[in-house]
Amino acid sequence: MKLFDVYPLLDVEPVEADGCLVFDRQGTRYLDFYGGHAVISIGHGHPHYVERITDQLGKLAFYSNSVPISIQKDLAHKLGELSGYYNWNLFLVNSGAEANENAMKLASAYNGRKKVLTFNKAFHGRTSLAVAATDNPSIVFPVNEGAEIVRFALEDFDGVEAEIKKGDMCCVMIEGMQGVGGIIEPTEAFLKHLRRLCDETDTVLILDEVQSGFGRTGRFFAHQHSFVQPDIISMAKGMGNGFPVGGILIHPKFEAKHGLLGTTFGGNHLACAAALAVLEVMENEKLIKNARKVGNYLISELKEVTEVKEIRGKGLMIGIELGFPVADIRSKLLYDKHIFTGSSSNKNTIRLLPPLNITKKEVDEFIQALKEVLQ
Ligand code: PLP
Repeated sequence: MKLFDVYPLLDVEPVEADGCLVFDRQGTRYLDFYGGHAVISIGHGHPHYVERITDQLGKLAFYSNSVPISIQKDLAHKLGELSGYYNWNLFLVNSGAEANENAMKLASAYNGRKKVLTFNKAFHGRTSLAVAATDNPSIVFPVNEGAEIVRFALEDFDGVEAEIKKGDMCCVMIEGMQGVGGIIEPTEAFLKHLRRLCDETDTVLILDEVQSGFGRTGRFFAHQHSFVQPDIISMAKGMGNGFPVGGILIHPKFEAKHGLLGTTFGGNHLACAAALAVLEVMENEKLIKNARKVGNYLISELKEVTEVKEIRGKGLMIGIELGFPVADIRSKLLYDKHIFTGSSSNKNTIRLLPPLNITKKEVDEFIQALKEVLQ
């Protein structure tokens, strides 16, 4: 059997890793400035993370969401502490798309509507049809029956106002910082505008923090730079540092009822152990602060690179706009300088999402390499 060939593959196979470094079969050292699409939050192979997962593996293989699992409660508690959303609720899933699906379903169960407002260049996941193909009325919400998606430009204050004021919008879904779209941040004024409109019309505000959450931008969630509180927050990627886990944080105004949401694997012991280890390391090693500090340093150093046209983002979620397609530069960074970087739907932007424990020294190495490949 062969693998279904849907991913263009790089000519490097990482086989070992440590912190912000990965090594291929020949032992060549690579600097990881991409973290597998923002997945590596606390660094590769962190000893505490490895220990927690290994320990959990040795304990219990059985998992069912119809028995109490105390590590889920431990995770919820720690997540409340670190995110500041102490009295919210947590529903665990396996991926970012699944988190967003459940966020929209919950919104629809709440207000009975089925229109979803999103934004140009948004990326929220790849699922759509499983519910439609399922014959089980108890899991079908209005949003599953012919959802209408309306899309606006970020910062289109008047457009979204006219649309939301119609009063039939189920939810507004917006990324804390657009990632795949090319690192674009909604302004605080725009988020406040959305918050006010949602409040006036009983529309649910969903913040997709799948990529921008878990300390990535130098706050626990990107929207926390702006002091706007959403109703539901979706998370995944950095949550498990490579282990597949996702979830939604749910405002207490949403009432839980048995059978409302569900998943087979969501909340399994190993996923919880991974997510808990991530939070513990983030707390003990002050990684959110490091993301802010080293991120600011990276931005200030990038400002000195003549060819860089624009720098977008915050913390360790950074877009470097070069004004011309970056594919060739990225390829030189990887094969000549041994540095992983990322791309986006904007061909002219290099996307940086390094582990949150990256050091200034590693930033210096990246900047030097970038200058050399740009010459
Ligand atoms: N939301 C955002 C903002 C993302 O960047 C992604 C993936 O890139 C997703 C959702 C989907 O996550 P997953 O690939 O885990 O389903």
